[in-house]
Amino acid sequence: MKFLKWAAAALCLMSLTACGQQEVLPPVEEPVSVQAVQEVSLPPLPEPAFTLMIEGSRFTGGCVYFGGKAFVEKAAAMEIPGLTGRTDLSVQVEGREYVPLKELCEASGMTLHGDDDKHIYMLCAPRQWQIPEGFDVPVLMYHGVSNDLWGMTELFVSPENMEAQIAWMVDNGYTPIWFEDLPHVDEIEKPVILTFDDGYMDNYTDLFPILKKYGVKATVFVVTGIVDYNPRTLTSAQIKEMSDSGLVSIQSHTATHPYLRGMSREQQSWELVQSKLDLAAITGKEPSVICYPSGSYDETTLELSREHYCMGIDMNGLMYTTGEDPYQVQRYYIRRQDTLGTIISYIQ
Ligand SMILES: [Zn+2]
Repeated sequence: MKFLKWAAAALCLMSLTACGQQEVLPPVEEPVSVQAVQEVSLPPLPEPAFTLMIEGSRFTGGCVYFGGKAFVEKAAAMEIPGLTGRTDLSVQVEGREYVPLKELCEASGMTLHGDDDKHIYMLCAPRQWQIPEGFDVPVLMYHGVSNDLWGMTELFVSPENMEAQIAWMVDNGYTPIWFEDLPHVDEIEKPVILTFDDGYMDNYTDLFPILKKYGVKATVFVVTGIVDYNPRTLTSAQIKEMSDSGLVSIQSHTATHPYLRGMSREQQSWELVQSKLDLAAITGKEPSVICYPSGSYDETTLELSREHYCMGIDMNGLMYTTGEDPYQVQRYYIRRQDTLGTIISYIQ
């Protein structure tokens, strides 16, 4: 997903991370200097130039963009949780009081993302999760769920087997959860985490109906560079619908699915951050889990993952026990030919 120049300019001025990857930007005016309340002289305000989304919800206060900076109306901004009482930063424009978005985000510990449709997303930065230690949580790694086989066929579990596996888990008291539920793992009966890598369209056409039928949660790790790419990969609309359903957590599998191990810090950083921006733009939610493509990562990956995500997921065929390194979470690889008995042996 590419940002328009508008969004790129806006975001770069807000000192965001992925700027190094953007195209050359047009010159912009100097940002308005902001101190205590002051009157600034500016050209007439345009119609609201962008839509601000806060944690997935449309911000109903006024938003403007001028002088190379984005501003929101102060009265509404002060209703954002965590900002109540912050009255030190504001400017008056045409008799109305505004606060700059960049400073607003810094004050509230949130981050900004933009998309092609002049949406700016203001999202909670991932905070370190406090996860109770010593709980066994089997994490299962799937890819496609389909009988329309192409490429590496062992990656595609049949929809019939997928349903049989989920039905067995539900019938035997297991609770499919998200990684985001781990801080409360001590309150969950027999937790198990179902993950689906790469973002194949059958996750929507074949898997999603099964999840809805049984009311169980799953995590889809999307390679953002292939979203809307061809009939075999998920569309943005499908991702958004699954994310909004409350059953599917959409998380990052990087932007281009490279072997991260040995890549430069800059390249790795771009993969981790760009995929995060792409997913935030599609879902309105900031992903908190990174899944290393092909289980390939190195010390640099771990450092960057700690900076940008709450957890990092590997694929070494072992049980994950909470308290182990949250950036090297192990999973069991489930292949097309695996029997229900094999899956049961992993989970129990
Ligand atoms: Zn993959």
